[in-house]
Amino acid sequence: MKYISTRGSAPELAFDDVLLAGLARDGGLYVPDSWPKMSKADVRNLQGLTYQELAVRVIMPFLGGSISEDEFSQMVSDSYAHFDHPAVAPLKQLAPGQWVAELFHGPTLAFKDYPLQLVGQLFDHVLKKKGEKATIIGATSGDTGSAAIEACRDRDAIEIFILHPKGRVSDVQRRQMTTVASENVHNIALEGTFDDCQDMVKAMFVDENFRDRHNLSAVNSINWARIMAQIVYYFWTALSLGAPDRKFIYAVPTGNFGNVYAGYVARKMGLPISKFVVGSNANDILTRFFDSGEMAMSPVKPTLSPSMDIQISSNFERLLFEHYRRDGAAVAKVLDKFRRDGKINFGQSRWRAMRKNFESYRFGDNATKDFIGELFRTTGELLDPHSAIGVMAGQQTVPADDEVLIALATAHPAKFPAAVEEASGIVPALPQRLTDLFDREERLHTLPNDIGQVCSYIDSKLLKKAAA
Ligand SMILES: *Cc1c(COP(=O)(O)O)cnc(C)c1O
Repeated sequence: MKYISTRGSAPELAFDDVLLAGLARDGGLYVPDSWPKMSKADVRNLQGLTYQELAVRVIMPFLGGSISEDEFSQMVSDSYAHFDHPAVAPLKQLAPGQWVAELFHGPTLAFKDYPLQLVGQLFDHVLKKKGEKATIIGATSGDTGSAAIEACRDRDAIEIFILHPKGRVSDVQRRQMTTVASENVHNIALEGTFDDCQDMVKAMFVDENFRDRHNLSAVNSINWARIMAQIVYYFWTALSLGAPDRKFIYAVPTGNFGNVYAGYVARKMGLPISKFVVGSNANDILTRFFDSGEMAMSPVKPTLSPSMDIQISSNFERLLFEHYRRDGAAVAKVLDKFRRDGKINFGQSRWRAMRKNFESYRFGDNATKDFIGELFRTTGELLDPHSAIGVMAGQQTVPADDEVLIALATAHPAKFPAAVEEASGIVPALPQRLTDLFDREERLHTLPNDIGQVCSYIDSKLLKKAAA
């Protein structure tokens, strides 16, 4: 299997290089040149596997022969060995025909652990095979940073630098990053906003000299390998509830469109999914698009679900690519126009075709808090604000008799304790292994919002390591 860019003019790459490249050179995102297909019988043959066995079967076709099955099985079992629940992604029933999949049993309590634990292993493996080292640089508003750090800690071939906006991430989120006592983990608290952090990371990648000097790489949500690892829990949850003999509706709280797009890939592969219901907070660019057919940017508003406070959903480009019949030049042209005008219309027939598979609903902070309290009182299930938006979105749709509704819960309630307590009166407890989080020593370096100072800090850290 080869990978092609959604903008049509970057070189085709094999899996190893797609993993390390992240963004394509033409500014597009990499996707497989064809979808692996499973028949109904193939899907039936996956019944009864463990999460780890299933992951190997679902993912192997995407690796294009670059990693042996034995090696890959080992990576998968190492990735999920330290999750809190033997089912890895357990299901809870909320009502007849209605379920929630808990994707928060990984080391940092958000669903991002499911892909990133594996991506960390894959990076280390591929870098060692090539005899290279890489420096991973990322900006975070909270969840991505800690999941990436946990995935890369103590790996010989990787140094990781994460920039977060000083004073603007929650105490739990900051401590999950800064209390990791590993020599290859570097936290920078930037005196600026999340956008400043992100701009700075972009500037480092544009500076070819700096990028090549440190072999920069990224593990943000446009990385194909992250999408690939997320396909697994769609198969896992559907198989647990009767696939291939029943149909499924997935409700997904959405920011960058990565999680729900992985479900779309599962459907392309042959999983019987009838539709996706997308939940958004006040940052509702996708909901407005599915309602009106026009995609229009607006300023980001802070909400109780910060990991969805996003203006442009990068992975939507991968869906567009399919709806433009994989014509990369056409995608490049239309996205160029979007960047210039701040709004875009992809045409009536494309919009209608997308609406056949996707519905979308928006919920404000008050509705979200009310729902968290009500769901806890009626079912005992305590959800974080992101997960609540997913479940609420799912409840806007009426499943047919042969359809099962599964909402994805993307974060543990203890990751957002203030909002959850206000909504339910319950202070959500951290899992046992994290109860000393507030006693651990923090390691971080505060820097001004100045690219020169940040780059020289990174230079000096890496020089010292190379000399040691
Ligand atoms: C990242 C994140 C999301 C959004 O997922 P996308 O793949 O960006 O759509 C939702 N909930 C939580 C808790 C997250 O960390």
